Amino acid sequence: MPYCSLCNITVDRKRWTGHVRSNTHKNNSTVPICDNVELIKSAFKGRIASYKVVASNEEVRNSPSLFLNNIKNQIKSLINHSLQTHTCIKVNFEFFCTFLLIKNEPGEETMKSFCTKNFTLHFNYDFNALYTNVECQLLKKVEDFEERDSGWTFLSTSHLEVNINKYQPLSGSRFINLPKSIQSKNYT
Ligand SMILES: [Zn+2]
Repeated sequence: MPYCSLCNITVDRKRWTGHVRSNTHKNNSTVPICDNVELIKSAFKGRIASYKVVASNEEVRNSPSLFLNNIKNQIKSLINHSLQTHTCIKVNFEFFCTFLLIKNEPGEETMKSFCTKNFTLHFNYDFNALYTNVECQLLKKVEDFEERDSGWTFLSTSHLEVNINKYQPLSGSRFINLPKSIQSKNYT
């Protein structure tokens, strides 16, 4: 049976994918980078880095739109940092928050997450346009969830995951390698 060295447990082969995506595994596999940013250790093929930007105690109760706006500059530095080394990347975002169902007493809480599509970014991309798009996609999904499953109300914000992947062009195009001094400035 596969052994997860981060969680120190053996995992049934059929459950491996679920295990890697579980919060227990993710909690065991994060490394703090600065105040509210953690690096998620990941073995996904083609993954450059996954970051977890966590809501501070004050931000937890903020609306999703306020939280996403607060962390805007951090997201910009994380993406720009990867682009310094990789020139072209694929990025997607997953927003995690808690909802409350008040139908029964006591109310039931559940963690939900909402994903964006993959964005292909070149070093000369327009961050503001990208981020507006990300905010729109995520806020629309949160809103749709509240409307579709009436009874669930937004309770608190947990974090935003930023998944940065290698861009693999279909043709044999190549990018110029950056000097070692820039390459070595890497969080991972
Ligand atoms: Zn694990």
